[in-house]
Amino acid sequence: MVCFCFLVDQKKKMRSSKPAAGTCSRCGGGARIADMTTSTRFCLIPIYWRSWKAVVCGFCGAVLKSYR
Ligand SMILES: [Zn+2]
Repeated sequence: MVCFCFLVDQKKKMRSSKPAAGTCSRCGGGARIADMTTSTRFCLIPIYWRSWKAVVCGFCGAVLKSYR
């Protein structure tokens, strides 16, 4: 019997954020501009990172807008 290990997951992390104009459409909380990092892991070993900017809600964490 052959066992394959295909375990790929992605983790989103907020590195830093600062207040931005606007409010969340879901909860009405204040928007924040955040530096985000997405890391892709294969069998729990990080193989790929990507940094991106996004406008997120500082209260519920919803991503309101993302930039490349
Ligand atoms: Zn919100």
